[in-house]
Amino acid sequence: MSLVVQKYGGTSVGSIEKIRDVARRVIETKKEGNDVVVVLSAMAGETDRLIRLAQEMTETPAPRELDVLISTGEQVSIALFSMAVQSLGYKATSLLGFQATIYTDHSYGRARISEIDTRRIMEEIRKDKIVAVAGFQGLDEQGNITTLGRGGSDTTAVAIAAALKAQVCEIFTDVEGVYTTDPRVCSKARKMKKVSYEEMLEMASLGAKVLEIRSVEFAKKYKVPIHVRSTFTDKEGTMVLPEDKSMEKILVSAVTYNKNEARITITKVPDKPGTAVKIFTPISEAGVVVDMIIQNTSAEGLTDLTFTVPKVDFKKTMGILKKVAKEIKAERVLGDENIAKVSIIGLGMRNHAGVATTMFSTLAREGINIMMISTSEIKISCVIDEKYTELAVRALHDAFHLDEEPHGR
Ligand code: ASP
Ligand code: MG
Repeated sequence: MSLVVQKYGGTSVGSIEKIRDVARRVIETKKEGNDVVVVLSAMAGETDRLIRLAQEMTETPAPRELDVLISTGEQVSIALFSMAVQSLGYKATSLLGFQATIYTDHSYGRARISEIDTRRIMEEIRKDKIVAVAGFQGLDEQGNITTLGRGGSDTTAVAIAAALKAQVCEIFTDVEGVYTTDPRVCSKARKMKKVSYEEMLEMASLGAKVLEIRSVEFAKKYKVPIHVRSTFTDKEGTMVLPEDKSMEKILVSAVTYNKNEARITITKVPDKPGTAVKIFTPISEAGVVVDMIIQNTSAEGLTDLTFTVPKVDFKKTMGILKKVAKEIKAERVLGDENIAKVSIIGLGMRNHAGVATTMFSTLAREGINIMMISTSEIKISCVIDEKYTELAVRALHDAFHLDEEPHGR
């Protein structure tokens, strides 16, 4: 007998009928002889609705109260789900975050799970029940309700799978798995059979939205195998796993894009110790996360500094920098919101030269100018004009033959 954790996202539990379908599916898994812990998201659109309610009440809701409010969506799902299971003749019980004793730190709205006391969950399993745990919510040391950040139910599921040493954490969603690129952009996108945690982490941080990034970090740390698959078919999805030899053979396994960043350049920055601190401290104090940073070599003691920030923080950052530029006696602050970042990801890049050249020549052939480049061991990103995003993604997908099934994947 094995233990399986299954997580169903908002679109999978978006209506009474869908919740009933999920209940049937879970019961099938139970009938196959598994113990099942089910983690549910709020019904589709519900968390957004709750956030809007808070905003109607006040522009500045207290973070504690906001978490009390937005955690209710998951409470509804698990209660309805348990009723569905019971009405089909099986035993089920719902547990809220505090009942499942999922402890977190105190950061409302983006709390981190610190520990899960599995006793209550195990007790219910021993009574042969299907246990439905509310995703996204936790409990801090003072007994306050916390939430884990948008998409946090994935993290709840992986954390529970790790704590219970489950055989697998199945993430059921509205897509069939993890694709080589966004199928809406590139019709040749192919569902991967498996992908490593490292690649998945890069993909999540570079704009692929299948799994919430913290859940992948958790899975990597505790070696939890994740199976991303569709709620609406029985097909196998994509396994997210520790890397193996076969994965290293593939140079590039995915292409991603991100249109949510903007580019900022400060020109003629005096090139002396302390300027970078003066520029980036006020930005980080304003809670803005800077992504790519490029500094030119200096000419006559002056240098240009270019970096990217999330589009939502663009205006705020420009405001801050205009002041900073004066203080440090830089020339100008220039901004560009119409950019996109396209990236290629693959474990095989570690040991192969020439991948970057193929990327650059592919973009050049399409007449696409590269504005910024950044690399890590297993990814290369280029910032380009936003209007060429789709073209770039398709061209790169072709250039690296991602539509072809690689051996062993
Ligand atoms: N309901 C939360 C959200 O919409 C958490 C989740 O769905 O994972 O972000
Ligand atoms: Mg979700």
